[in-house]
Amino acid sequence: MSEKALSISPAQTRQRERFDRKSVAIAEKMLRRVNELTHRPEALTPFLEILRRVFVDREDASRPHGTPTVGTYCVMVPPEIIYAQGAMPVKLCGGSYTAFSIGDDTAPRDACPLVKAVMGFEEIDAMPVYQNCSLMAVPVTCDCKKKLAGYLSQRRPTAILHVPANRDRDEDMERFVEELYAFSGQLANITSKELSYENLSAAYRMMADAQYQLSRFIDLRRKNPLLIRGTFAMAVMNAMSYTYAPDWTKQLAALNDELEALARKKEMAVRENQPRILLTGSPVIFPNFKLPLLIEEMGGLLAADETCMGERGLYDPPAVADHTLDGMMRALSNRATRPCTCPTFADNKRRVYRIRQLIQDYKIQGVVYHVLRGCLVYDYEYAVLEEEMGKIGVPIIRVETDYNEEDVEQLRIRTEAFLELIKYGGGQAK
Ligand code: SF4
Ligand code: SF4
Repeated sequence: MSEKALSISPAQTRQRERFDRKSVAIAEKMLRRVNELTHRPEALTPFLEILRRVFVDREDASRPHGTPTVGTYCVMVPPEIIYAQGAMPVKLCGGSYTAFSIGDDTAPRDACPLVKAVMGFEEIDAMPVYQNCSLMAVPVTCDCKKKLAGYLSQRRPTAILHVPANRDRDEDMERFVEELYAFSGQLANITSKELSYENLSAAYRMMADAQYQLSRFIDLRRKNPLLIRGTFAMAVMNAMSYTYAPDWTKQLAALNDELEALARKKEMAVRENQPRILLTGSPVIFPNFKLPLLIEEMGGLLAADETCMGERGLYDPPAVADHTLDGMMRALSNRATRPCTCPTFADNKRRVYRIRQLIQDYKIQGVVYHVLRGCLVYDYEYAVLEEEMGKIGVPIIRVETDYNEEDVEQLRIRTEAFLELIKYGGGQAK
């Protein structure tokens, strides 16, 4: 028995048993609801299996034997650098209601549930995918992430990355390149592998394969009638957080092949004449799938999402102008920040532009704006988006949620009313 296990008190043991029971039950319930949605492609199975493996069976991320993992807390940590140095990234922003309730005792009341869930996982020490990480990487984006970085760094090796708030200042952007080099130095300490032109080029190729499959997937998601439900697509993207990139790429290639075959045969598409919805706002992290599930269970078609557990982290390829190691690092720094639509940047016109683009491409009829309680940065941007949606005649609803099931009935009523409004009021982009 480890020293840590021996030092666990009876109260902690009881807390741990409660955690085991409740968190597994919630993850199983969410997976069952995902499985019960109609039009589920066969090739979705491996993605749901990885979520089951991590959240129900409590196994580690799916990775090659002996590969260390690095916990990342934002899409702004470039996976290429981690793969280049012989480790694997796992995205650890938390979506667990049970971990949230434990973190709620440690964090201030108004901290966001995502950060409380991460703190709960740290306290309970029961999730291999968290516990086995050799290094944590936390970009300092909002206040909650800043305090999380401090909390984690007192407990385990942590790389704290300062992210520029203003992307127009060259010196701020230059600082982020330096942050990535410093992060690479910390990685070398755990993997004993320095970054080189060769290994970074290989990691670029690995992620380019993933990007290619993602671009096929995005094209297929744009089809009308819909070929794949948004809840399924969110499961695909969440599963990426815990899967070795080449394996995820293969699984996505198989899913794309299946969807293309369906498109050719003109069958199995989700043909219901229901409102096509865009989900945007605070991150939607498994097992907190209550909003996408409610939208689709109430008859809406979740046609697209603009969230950071969606395609945000992989959508834009790095543009390399200078084919040296430094040139590639600069391209990663630019890709992580410049096109990013996260509202933690001071200026964020990109987000409005991107959402208008998604509305056109996916023929969106209504927008659901998700705000996690305490997530000020997303809440701030609601008013801007509401005004923009007013200009183009697309209904939008702001939905504030927390990590519990107490608000489900109220959310159900509001979602249903919103879908009815679009159906009978005719939400059409001008
Ligand atoms: S919402 Fe923004 S800061 Fe938070 S993880 Fe996503 S991209 Fe990073
Ligand atoms: S961006 Fe929002 S959800 Fe993400 S850590 Fe900050 S407050 Fe929490």
